[in-house]
Amino acid sequence: MKFNVTQIGTVHSEFDEPADPDAMREVASTIVVDEAYEEALYRIEDSDHLKIVFYIHEADEPTLRGPRRYGVERGTFACRSPHRPSPIGTTTVELLERDGLALQVRGLDAIDGTPVLDIKPYAPSLDRPEEADDDRRDAPRGRIKRGIRNREREELLLRAGEIHGHFCPYLALGVMAGVHAMRELGTESEGMEDLVAVVETNSCFADGVQTVTGCTFGNNALLYRDYGKTAMTLVSRDNSDNGVRVHVKEREEIIERDYPEASELFETVIADRDGTPAERERLTERWQAVAFDLIGRPIFDVCDVQTGVSVDLPDEAPIYEDAQCVDCGESIMAPKAVERDGETYCRDCANASYLQLDGRGLSRIEPSE
Ligand SMILES: [Zn+2]
Ligand SMILES: [Zn+2]
Repeated sequence: MKFNVTQIGTVHSEFDEPADPDAMREVASTIVVDEAYEEALYRIEDSDHLKIVFYIHEADEPTLRGPRRYGVERGTFACRSPHRPSPIGTTTVELLERDGLALQVRGLDAIDGTPVLDIKPYAPSLDRPEEADDDRRDAPRGRIKRGIRNREREELLLRAGEIHGHFCPYLALGVMAGVHAMRELGTESEGMEDLVAVVETNSCFADGVQTVTGCTFGNNALLYRDYGKTAMTLVSRDNSDNGVRVHVKEREEIIERDYPEASELFETVIADRDGTPAERERLTERWQAVAFDLIGRPIFDVCDVQTGVSVDLPDEAPIYEDAQCVDCGESIMAPKAVERDGETYCRDCANASYLQLDGRGLSRIEPSE
């Protein structure tokens, strides 16, 4: 069945052909509404955000699958491919300014000359089905999962900041790696051991990975390999030959090349442990800006991705018996106990060596007598 729709306005954009939608969303564009519909704009300024319905006039022949820029291929109705049986686009934009018939907006991924079919105010209660707070008890990762599904990387970075305490480039890279790997595997994490992340560094990067993948030290789904590389591999236990490894190429070089001011400040304040309070403050500010800039960049700008990676996984975490230290009286996982003259001690009381994960990575510590 065919329907008639009406063009009510036109997009004016600096993009006159399709480009990276993320890049297009960054810049402001203007929707000029046809004079006949002026009355329909009455009080549109009351809305901060609008939903724009437009006709994708330069779409290719429709396809029923993808193509997709990221992740697993999906059917056209399950993704945002422009090549659709009904080539209609909908995007939520920020209304920056209205000047008569001209609406200046940010966030519109439509090229110059795109016919606009309709404009509606964005209504969070209708357009964004937030899970009720009670649901968070049943689905503690509900919001994070939604963020991964919708590629809301900035939102996920904000969440990672909740455990990391500050925003920095490596946290952002960890979030990006996590999102990419989760989408590539087409998987979700329930915070059990069926999905495992292997991190090769315990820097800020690891916190971004933990937030997004839900694989943490606490749920035994995070493995630490002391390679000193800014890399992570995500793999499902039931298919351990199909891991996705994301490796940050060039590490510091990215920051040095693309964010030189932040890089210099980092050298002074962190690497040389020098720098005035003002410089420290400025670094925090620059570091945060770099993090939020990086998070919007395509992953392939900064990372290498390998798929089909085989991962050697340990067995699921055993439940150990408890032992008790005869000296301090505290309980210990039995295999961690030390026997001395037929008595059971904890490593601390026995002054025995132990493994420690710290800023240097993993090392064996020999306690001094
Ligand atoms: Zn950090
Ligand atoms: Zn003890």
